[in-house]
Amino acid sequence: MATDDQLTFRNPVTRFPEISPPKQHQSEPGLDAELMPQTDRGEQSYRGTGRLEGRRALITGADSGIGSAVAIAFAREGADIALSYLPTEEEDAQHVNSVIEQSGRKAVLLPGDLAEPDFCRQVVEDAALELGGLDALVNNAGRQIAIEQFEDLSDEQWTHTFEVNIHAIYRISKAALAHLPAGATIVTSSSIQAYEPSPTLVDYASTKSAINNFTKGLAQQLAPRGIRVNAVAPGPIWTPLQVSDGQPKGALPEFGKSTPLGRAGQPTELAPAYVFLTSTESSYVIGETLNVNGGTPTP
Ligand code: NAD
Ligand code: MG
Repeated sequence: MATDDQLTFRNPVTRFPEISPPKQHQSEPGLDAELMPQTDRGEQSYRGTGRLEGRRALITGADSGIGSAVAIAFAREGADIALSYLPTEEEDAQHVNSVIEQSGRKAVLLPGDLAEPDFCRQVVEDAALELGGLDALVNNAGRQIAIEQFEDLSDEQWTHTFEVNIHAIYRISKAALAHLPAGATIVTSSSIQAYEPSPTLVDYASTKSAINNFTKGLAQQLAPRGIRVNAVAPGPIWTPLQVSDGQPKGALPEFGKSTPLGRAGQPTELAPAYVFLTSTESSYVIGETLNVNGGTPTP
């Protein structure tokens, strides 16, 4: 007989508490260390079963939020990890670094700005050098700045969002191809915004649509070489992105409540999707967008 606690944990409605985050602000990029309430990135809960044994993964935006949960899960599944993040996120990156090392795997810290084309290429070379090769790439870094009025969306913001969210994916994936052997994988972080753009996220949502399309096109080209490309499209997940102008402030207390499940997702709930698409179990899954969004219908 299952205990009450086990039943609560199994039920997706009650597995994690429904949160009503207080209005708060951090400058971009936010820190998990300062987020209220804190998130679950799987430190205590994610248990691996050797599904990524010996893999060598570069994960961008691996310091916090979804990327940090993916990094922790990959390490628990047996992979060594290169973590890409912005220099101001050192505190969060050190936390993930220590969790990976406690899990018995190697972590390589590679701070730098992915809006710079040269750094996109450098981070791949450094990851491959320090990990002794590269056979998994997770293009997860992204920026999201809500703008209420279209007239206030500046050229600078439009360009910056495209640089980080999609141009960097193109540059990193291209540089990684020099290292990725048959059997390697690329997973990109898309979004529900690719299909259901919020009125305040015109630039961001456009990049996410581009990521879905990029993923499906590149997947077909690389499949004959034995390299699989897929995407994960998260719904509303509680991460520092949301409090560093990712949402209008007034929207924070209601964040995620309009999903069929009725609550925001936790970063650790995304990790199994990335593990699945990176592991050999998904060998016949190519060019797919795996939606992890609390039940919102997608095309
Ligand atoms: P997050 O803030 O924890 O992660 C985003 C990361 O992107 C940052 O930690 C940072 O390291 C990285 N980044 C941003 N600008 C960068 C730059 N110029 N150079 C290098 N790195 C940079 O937030 P998250 O929500 O975990 O976001 C991860 C991904 O998930 C993003 O692509 C985001 O668009 C996507 N996503 C998030 C949600 C959500 O609700 N949180 C929903 C759908 C998609
Ligand atoms: Mg971060």
